[in-house]
Amino acid sequence: MNCPDCNGELKGRVKHFTCEACGKKWLAEYTCRICGAETEKNQSCGAPTFYCRPCQSLRSRENLNIDLSPDSGE
Ligand SMILES: [Zn+2]
Ligand SMILES: [Zn+2]
Repeated sequence: MNCPDCNGELKGRVKHFTCEACGKKWLAEYTCRICGAETEKNQSCGAPTFYCRPCQSLRSRENLNIDLSPDSGE
């Protein structure tokens, strides 16, 4: 994943990313590629999965749109 501002590489966890190049923080939202709804993250053990309520199914990363917005919080 790359920084929308400077195209630098983003480092971080599932929702919170920091750009290594410019230091900006980004908040990632994972929306369903089919219906556009925001998905719910389930993190049991291992890799996180994303559940779309309207579609009533799990979405893998390939079936998600990732929207990055500036992370103003901590
Ligand atoms: Zn950047
Ligand atoms: Zn959906």
